[in-house]
Amino acid sequence: MGEVESNTLRIRELFQKASSNVDLRGILGVTPFRGVYDSLMDVQKQWVKGIAGSMFVKFLESGNIISFAFVYPEGVIDNIGLMRDGMFDKEAWNIYAGWYTYLNNSLDKASSMIAEDIKGEALSATTTGIASKLTHVSQYFPRVVSHRVHAERAGIGWRGKNSLIVNPRYSCMIRLSGVITDTPIVQTPSMKEGCGDCTSCEDACTFLKHRDRLDDYREQCRIYLDKLGLDDEVCGKCIKACVYSPRLANPPEINVEQPLNMVYYTSP
Ligand code: SF4
Ligand code: SF4
Repeated sequence: MGEVESNTLRIRELFQKASSNVDLRGILGVTPFRGVYDSLMDVQKQWVKGIAGSMFVKFLESGNIISFAFVYPEGVIDNIGLMRDGMFDKEAWNIYAGWYTYLNNSLDKASSMIAEDIKGEALSATTTGIASKLTHVSQYFPRVVSHRVHAERAGIGWRGKNSLIVNPRYSCMIRLSGVITDTPIVQTPSMKEGCGDCTSCEDACTFLKHRDRLDDYREQCRIYLDKLGLDDEVCGKCIKACVYSPRLANPPEINVEQPLNMVYYTSP
């Protein structure tokens, strides 16, 4: 077995361990750093450059992003947007908010563990707790790396009509993070868009449905989830709609062979 293959297996092993440690299912892919960097907004390029530090040029030349996701356990998404006595059941909705926090923390542990082992740079899962302190959604952009960019390129899923990454097996019931590395590893290809004529997420959210008529529907989304006032900055109705969309009613089984050049699925 060559160096690239054995590095890939090592990273899979680490990610499997990270999944087991937090009792979550996971998905792992790899994509060249350069392609991701070139696709980012200018403000995000500055952010990534800062994270890469003295390794930036090396990463541009031959680096990769190890892109990965953890999956919400079955049933968690059911708690989104339920009604009780004519009102939103926020106690139930907060079960989802609690898992959102747990997945982000678990992703941060996984990226630190992998980065430490392979001497890469860990990305953080999200920036949270600031929605009410911002005056426009664009103020998020210089503070985060868009995990959707590397996840889409690494084949974790396709970019859905809700702008989230849709994995063919787990829908967008996932949270994303990554590690930048110059370790040579097998890359995984992006996948074909798979929404087809499904409109479930757009039917569930008026901002998504009418985004062509709004300046930036993400700003309406930020205001909505801030007003919702759950235990973390979430709404998630567009995730729930996708999980139960006709398009994803029968997700495919995991390929038991899991070839090195395809995304890798873990279970705890
Ligand atoms: S999170 Fe909620 S408000 Fe934001 S796009 Fe999804 S459904 Fe709409
Ligand atoms: S709900 Fe349907 S249209 Fe929306 S992202 Fe999921 S598969 Fe695509």
